[in-house]
Amino acid sequence: MKRYSVLYVLFFSCLNLCLKPLLSSLPEYYPSWQGFPSYKICTWYHNKSAAVSLTFDDNNESQFAYILPLLDRFRFNATFFVVTGALDKPWSVVTWDSVRMAASRGHEIGSHTVNHPRLIELDEVSRMYELEYSRNRIDEEVPGQKCVSLAYPYSQWDDELRSQVSSYYIVARAGDNWSEPADPPDLYTVHGNIPLASTSLEQMNCWIDEAVVYRLWCVEIVHTFEYEGAEPLSADRYRLHLRYIKSKEERVWVAPLGTVAKYIRERDAATIIPVSVTDSTLSFDLSDGLPDSVYNVPLTIAVDIPGDWENAEVTQAGMPRWSAFAEGNSGRTLLVDAVPDAGEIAIHRMARNSQRPNPPSVGYELSVFPNPVRCIITAIFAMPEKNEAQLDLFDIRGCRWASFKSERWLDSGEYFQEFDLRNFPSGVYFLRFRAGGSVSTVKIVVQR
Ligand SMILES: [Zn+2]
Repeated sequence: MKRYSVLYVLFFSCLNLCLKPLLSSLPEYYPSWQGFPSYKICTWYHNKSAAVSLTFDDNNESQFAYILPLLDRFRFNATFFVVTGALDKPWSVVTWDSVRMAASRGHEIGSHTVNHPRLIELDEVSRMYELEYSRNRIDEEVPGQKCVSLAYPYSQWDDELRSQVSSYYIVARAGDNWSEPADPPDLYTVHGNIPLASTSLEQMNCWIDEAVVYRLWCVEIVHTFEYEGAEPLSADRYRLHLRYIKSKEERVWVAPLGTVAKYIRERDAATIIPVSVTDSTLSFDLSDGLPDSVYNVPLTIAVDIPGDWENAEVTQAGMPRWSAFAEGNSGRTLLVDAVPDAGEIAIHRMARNSQRPNPPSVGYELSVFPNPVRCIITAIFAMPEKNEAQLDLFDIRGCRWASFKSERWLDSGEYFQEFDLRNFPSGVYFLRFRAGGSVSTVKIVVQR
């Protein structure tokens, strides 16, 4: 009898041990995520209406001389499609250093092959070489990013080439003049718009307006500016176009081609798995089943948080993430940034006036371009909160030459103010920006 009872105890201990993990992983009668609010993954990053990718081909000198500084001033990240064989030539004006410098400022370096051949006329081995070796050279020379994008030389492709490209890249840009829908039919033949010398500013701006209305992905393809090539674009017209895009930034997401392609692939593959709901926290997982070393772009998720939550903040794997209440809503839809497969996302309930532990680092910032300047200088100033702003331009002796004062309180955001310096003598000047108790000054050089 004694022996039986030992066996009996052993049997039930084992059963208990085996079942315990199983039982604890089963949902309770009411699952802990019961009551998780409705959500959706936004079509475009930060729930914007359109995506815009600015792309530049052939490592032309004028792109680096005129446009790179302009892109940086506007804080736009673009894609430079480089011909790696040309960069490897010792006499090349644009060098790997130029390309690395662009990459270090957040621009994408894509492949435009090794020798810029007509790929469809090559045999299979030569095609493979052009596709693979150019990608490998970029990965070797440009640290901190993986080359994922290709632009077909002469915009020529066929089905066989397209399928070869898909072994090496996640996206490839073809030519032709139209924008892609938010769900492009084929990421290996992404179409773009090509501004030429004869394209008016209105036409270029129209591509952006159209993209906003129809929620499109507008890819722009530029080869040369000013003095270079057959149909160079006026750098000044392009500057005005960039300024137009900047003025639409509330609704337009400007990002490199590869970043937008990653967003689309992640967005279409991602699923959200609610994990738990409490009075003060909503948590969920986001997974896309794609390789995490490449697909690391944050997606924006719109979550209808409970109506009595006055404020909220978001963490992923314990680290703060961007979030904002969606505009035009009663304030109950929260936009949340999260990277797929990068840890649990938690939305924490906060009191209305609670201080966020990690406030955005954007302060009252001032920058100018171009500098040195001959004619018109544009001051860009950032307002982190609603306030008045004043700009004053002094010479080296402290005499004021120009000033600007906002007529009303400005909302938070980025602003542009131009100053005409054509009548200013050559020399050093200082632009002072005062707002919200903060003062910053930038040195300007006027050259005649
Ligand atoms: Zn080209």
